Amino acid sequence: MRSLIVLALLVGCHSPDLPSSADPEHRPGPRPLFEVGASVRDITPPVGIGERPVWMAGFGNDRGAEGVHDPIEARAIVLGRDDTKIALVAVDLIGFFHEEVQAAREQLLTELPEWEGGTLVVAATHNHEGPDTMGLWGPSKLQSGVDLAYNDRVVTEIVASVREAWQRRRPARLRLGMAHAPELIVDSRPPQVIDDRVLALQAVDEQGGTIATVVSFGCHPEAMGSRNTELTADYPVFTRRFLEDRVGGTTLFFSGAIGGLMTQLGLELIDPETQQLAPKRTFRFTQVYGEAVGERALQALDSGSWNRSDRLEARSRSVDLPLTNPFYKTGLTLGVIGGGRTASRLRKGEGDGWSFTSEVGWLGIGDAELLLVPGEIYPELVLGGVPDPAPEGADHPDAAIEPPLLPRLTSPFAFVIGLANDEIGYILPKRQWDVSSPFTYGQMKAPYGEINSVGPDTAAALSAAYDDLLGARPETLGPVDR
Ligand SMILES: [Zn+2]
Repeated sequence: MRSLIVLALLVGCHSPDLPSSADPEHRPGPRPLFEVGASVRDITPPVGIGERPVWMAGFGNDRGAEGVHDPIEARAIVLGRDDTKIALVAVDLIGFFHEEVQAAREQLLTELPEWEGGTLVVAATHNHEGPDTMGLWGPSKLQSGVDLAYNDRVVTEIVASVREAWQRRRPARLRLGMAHAPELIVDSRPPQVIDDRVLALQAVDEQGGTIATVVSFGCHPEAMGSRNTELTADYPVFTRRFLEDRVGGTTLFFSGAIGGLMTQLGLELIDPETQQLAPKRTFRFTQVYGEAVGERALQALDSGSWNRSDRLEARSRSVDLPLTNPFYKTGLTLGVIGGGRTASRLRKGEGDGWSFTSEVGWLGIGDAELLLVPGEIYPELVLGGVPDPAPEGADHPDAAIEPPLLPRLTSPFAFVIGLANDEIGYILPKRQWDVSSPFTYGQMKAPYGEINSVGPDTAAALSAAYDDLLGARPETLGPVDR
């Protein structure tokens, strides 16, 4: 019966308001299936006012901000259909912990009671040129760099951004697209596996104007490097400006599978204006890079297609992760990490086992799927490519290979939203875990990654949580345009 209905709907697709693949640009697209609104709120911390320095996050300790190059922002898109409401907020921060996301959810319900039943997703871009909202980058390793009053202001502005976006909502149809940008990512740790996909979702109103564009791409926002002392959103600010100049509306940038770790720091980039190499760790380099990412996102939209599905669905699960990292335990207990707020998530189990709670999620937005990952996931866990057999020197060569996440999704537009609703650090395949000598790939010291990870069993625990989350597969996607 269902296949008959789908067939009937397919036959019904020959209406003049649907896009044809031969002429994707000059048709208005299907009728709106959602209501969409967007908003941008400034969350730049005051620099040089009052006693308290703004510690910049992402590299070493003791990097005090000395100025502001471009504003640090919270950017929201809200989608609604019937009673379902989903808000996605991107913040230009290194990470934003789960308890503060929860605080934003509670505050939103108080301020906007009609949000009841709605879903709020907050994801940091993992900006390495913004304020420390996690605590790890204070004046010394033992002094937290987080200013909880500032984090509270971020919570308030996240809520304001959602309220504003919700008030501005109007009928919209969605365009979805994907491009690839392998030339824009350097994988700094073997094996070489990158997720080079640039995914884009664009909400267009009835007049054809862009309301919002959501972009996800997997490369650390750290183009300005470790010596910069001017607050900036790093390359995503240039990606957003580039897209907003070309297609209008509000652009939101999300970091995808950036673990492993994905960077542009070693990249040689030709500046299209001078035809010379763009000098590294400068705003010019960062702009050239950000615009190149924007160019790919534009390509994704140009080659994309109109969404046909009216699905709007959100799922989430809380997940307990075994915590073995001694630095995390100490940092959490001493209040360096999270300024004391995050310690309540730490649980003592049997023996000397500790665990730490986080959240995984999944969104179905029309024909697109968005996998919400609470940290920096290695692309091997998204696409596959964990070495088999394990590289010589691996600490757990016989560990089971965690099944990759992407094949569990059915949409060709499967976004990875990293650092979603939490930032637990790196999520590595257990077989690649390497803290004890001898080290993998003939290295003389332990590779970077493990030091910023909850533990070697994080990926398996998350994988099981995604099984639970995705187990009841959403109905097979079919055209539902009526
Ligand atoms: Zn990172």
